[in-house]
Amino acid sequence: MLLLFSRTGRKGMVVTKTVRHIVRSMRARDVRQSTRPATSRGADLRLMRELNRLLILNGVRVSGPITRVAVAHRTGLSRTTVSSIVDELLADNLLFEGKTVEAAPTGGRRATLLHFNADAGYVIGVDLGRSHLTLLLTNLAGQIIARRSGPFDASLGPEICLQQVIASLMDFTAEHQIGWHQIIGVGLGIPGPMDAASRMLVRPPRMPGWDQFDMRTVMERACKVPMYFDNDANMGARGESQYGAARNVDNMAYVKVATGIGCGLIVNGDIYRGSSGAAGELGHVTIDDNGPVCDCGNRGCLEVVAGAAAVTMAASRGVYPDSSGKRDGHDDHDIESSAAGPRRTGPLDVADVVHAALAGDTVAQEAIERAGYHIGIALAGLVNIFNPSLILLDGSMARAGEFLLGPIRQGIARRSLAASSAATRIEMAQLGDNAIALGAVATVIEAAFGPPSLTTMPALAAGDFLAAAEGIS
Ligand SMILES: [Zn+2]
Repeated sequence: MLLLFSRTGRKGMVVTKTVRHIVRSMRARDVRQSTRPATSRGADLRLMRELNRLLILNGVRVSGPITRVAVAHRTGLSRTTVSSIVDELLADNLLFEGKTVEAAPTGGRRATLLHFNADAGYVIGVDLGRSHLTLLLTNLAGQIIARRSGPFDASLGPEICLQQVIASLMDFTAEHQIGWHQIIGVGLGIPGPMDAASRMLVRPPRMPGWDQFDMRTVMERACKVPMYFDNDANMGARGESQYGAARNVDNMAYVKVATGIGCGLIVNGDIYRGSSGAAGELGHVTIDDNGPVCDCGNRGCLEVVAGAAAVTMAASRGVYPDSSGKRDGHDDHDIESSAAGPRRTGPLDVADVVHAALAGDTVAQEAIERAGYHIGIALAGLVNIFNPSLILLDGSMARAGEFLLGPIRQGIARRSLAASSAATRIEMAQLGDNAIALGAVATVIEAAFGPPSLTTMPALAAGDFLAAAEGIS
C-alpha cells in the first residue's frame, strides 16, 4: 500500500483528469442505458468510438501486457484504429508502455508491450451488513490497499445509518490521504431483496425504514462519485467469481449463511436477478409448513429453521438431541417454543457456537449439522432446477467448515437427482469477510470498463458497429 504512494512517475500517480474522464464516461453510459438502447444501427459515432475504446482498454486490462498488433488481432479492429485509440489511452494515463518484445516468434520488427495502469484511480467497496460495516479501498485491479470494519446497526434506519456510512467513508479516505477526485466509484452490498431497476430495497426484513429508500441520491450527493448498489449475496457471488473460488465458473450459487440465508446466482456468467430482482431468496424456502413464524410472515422458512438464531438457540438449549437428520414433531415443537420465547440463556451468538463446535462441543456440532441438513434440502431444490457446477458457502456459520458442509452435501445428495448433483461441487468461499465488499469493487470496475467478457467477444458479433467505427477512427 505504501508502495502506491512512494511510486514516482506517471504510472504510479493518480491523475485527477484521468479519474474525471472515467467518471464522466460511467455517468454518460448510465444515462444512455436508461434512455435508449445502444443498438448497432442507432448508435452514434461517438458511442462507437467509445465502445472501441472500451474494447481496447479491456483487452489490455484483462489480457495485458499485450502488443498493439495482438490487440488488433483480438478485437478485429484495424491497426490504425488501435494505434489511434491506444495513443489516447496512453495520454489519459490508463495505459503505459513496458518493455519491447519480438513482434512475432519468427523475429521481425520489435513491438512495445502495453500495460493497464491499475493505479490510475481508486475504488471503494462497502459491505453494509445488519450488524457490521466493512470498507475496502482498492486500485483499479481490485487489489486491496486498505480495509476497515466495525459494528453497525442497520435497524436504526437509513437516515441515521447512511450518515454513519458517509462519515465512515470520509474518515477512511482522509486516513489514507485520498481525495474523492481520485475515486472512480463506490459499490455497496446491502442485505435484503433489491428492485432490479431502481436498486432500492424492497421490504427488507429486520430493517425498518429501508423499504424503497433512495440510498443512491443521498450517497451521491455527499460523495459526488457514482454509487452502485446490489443485494449482498449478489455482491458476494460477484466477488467470488471475479477474485475468489468461482473464477471461470459460469453457473454457480453463492450461499451466505448468517442471521439470514441469502443466495447469489451466477447463470451463464452473469448475475441472475429474476424478473424483479428478488431471485435467490433461499432463506425463505419453506422447510416446515408448521414451523416457527418467519420475519417474512410465512412459517418454517429455511432462515428460521437453520439461520444463526435457530442454531444459537439449539446449541444453548440442546433442542436437537437427534442428529440423524430425521425430523419429528418433538423437534418442531421445541424450535417453535424456543424461537417464540426469550428463554435463551447467556449472550451466546453463532460465532460462539461455531467456536464451540470446532473445539469439540457435540451439542454445538449437532446444532450446526442439523442446520446444514436443512440447508442441503433447500439447496437440493436449487440443484434440481439450476444444475450449477459449484455451490460456495460463506457467512458466519460457514466458518464451521465440514460440520456445515458435510450435512449440506448429504442433504443435496439424498434429495436431488443424481443427474443434477453429480457435477455440483460444494465448497467454502475463498474471500472470507471481504467477499461482499470485493464484489462491490468488481461492480464499480465493470461499470467503468465493461465486463471482462467484452474482450473475448468475437469480432463478428460486434461486426456492425466495429466496421462502422473504423471509418471514423
Ligand atoms: Zn421467511
